[in-house]
Amino acid sequence: NGVLYSEVHRPCKVLLLLNPHSGKGQALSLFTGHVQRMLHEAGIPHTLVVTERQNHARELVREADLSKWDALVIMSGDGLLFEVVNGLMEREDWEEAIQTPLGILPGGSGNALAASIHHYAGSQPVSSEELLLSCAFLLCKGLVSRLDLTSVCLGSGPQQRLFSFLSLAWGFVADVDIESEKYRHVGAARFTVGTLVRLASLRVYQGKLAYLPAETGHRSPSSGSSPTTSGSLTEVSVSSPQSEASSSTPSFCSSLVCHSSQQSPNTFHNYCNSNNAFKAKRGDVAPTTGPSGPPDSLLVPLDQPVPSNWTVVPEENFVLVLAMYQSHLAEDLMAAPNSTMEDGLIHLLYVKAGISRATLLRLFLAMEKGAHVATNSPHLVYEKVRALRLEPYSAKGTITVDGELVDYGPVQAQVHVGLARLIAS
Ligand code: ADP
Ligand code: MG
Repeated sequence: NGVLYSEVHRPCKVLLLLNPHSGKGQALSLFTGHVQRMLHEAGIPHTLVVTERQNHARELVREADLSKWDALVIMSGDGLLFEVVNGLMEREDWEEAIQTPLGILPGGSGNALAASIHHYAGSQPVSSEELLLSCAFLLCKGLVSRLDLTSVCLGSGPQQRLFSFLSLAWGFVADVDIESEKYRHVGAARFTVGTLVRLASLRVYQGKLAYLPAETGHRSPSSGSSPTTSGSLTEVSVSSPQSEASSSTPSFCSSLVCHSSQQSPNTFHNYCNSNNAFKAKRGDVAPTTGPSGPPDSLLVPLDQPVPSNWTVVPEENFVLVLAMYQSHLAEDLMAAPNSTMEDGLIHLLYVKAGISRATLLRLFLAMEKGAHVATNSPHLVYEKVRALRLEPYSAKGTITVDGELVDYGPVQAQVHVGLARLIAS
């Protein structure tokens, strides 16, 4: 039949990382109640690690013997996957480590990537628990696709570099991200509550924004997109769109699942055949200044002006700046409906100051169906870009990356096409 795991000649091992405090604090009971049996029936052996503290997962994957695992699956919100992606990119062998297929099971309050892969699979929006079942099903199906990662450089001092799979936010959205943490007990509705609260105290954020438009930018090289099969998880190769037109094509409708008997080096196939033991060390991981990773060929140092082919936004008063590389900002907020996992694009949205509360509310309501751009609000701007720079004028404020708080200050970012791999579709 078409179930790819049936081709496995030996069990496919999954390391499952679960944050027990994510969402309403029910991730573990959701896992044992819904997911465990599905994995068992699909014949996917897994080792469950319940995280004990923040950065536990990050340190664990930084030190782990990845040859033991065919996939790393996160059951939490986007924050735990952010830890895992950055833990992998902090390794000396990051280039190989980031090839490890990643999976996401929504157990948090911010399940934007899970909502995105559900959307990419062509499914209609569903409630949180149904989303979990949908993602668990995708996990059991085991199709692996490439996922763009955006390199985010922070600070004017010693540069800190992070890798992001979802979003970079400043202004209204970033404030809601952080302020709504206290409404975590309402689950995914925390963003709706947070948005309404923030609307009441709407403010203007001042800074300078510049970006490299997608049509003039050159793509960074995709790290090998030839389709491969590992026997267990099959990679789906989606042709990387070069133009705006093709980037709006649903990513998987036209793609083929290619089966290959040839093994390419540096694929997770190599991990599958190793018998090395899991050697994760806990609590003795030296702090690092940030991941290694590919060079940011599109960025110049923050103390230099942006290159001449960049666009500098004339406005300096904003209500929000939001860079998205997946479709969903939250379960019920489709901020970038045209985004696909490997479009090599940053979908940049910004809202200029002067917008009324009522119009901003209308934009967020329309965002539920991804219809905010079509409202043609003169205050909302949407651009497809490859890189951007944001320099806030205020000394204090909030910037979030993948919904997580990061150091405040000047920031620039560039997308790296298909750097990671995700079990989806
Ligand atoms: P949610 O969507 O509910 O916010 P996340 O996965 O984003 O769920 O996790 C929220 C935060 O909790 C993240 O910053 C993550 O790094 C952190 N975290 C992960 N594991 C733990 C733990 N065991 N205890 C406390 N915090 C944790
Ligand atoms: Mg994208």
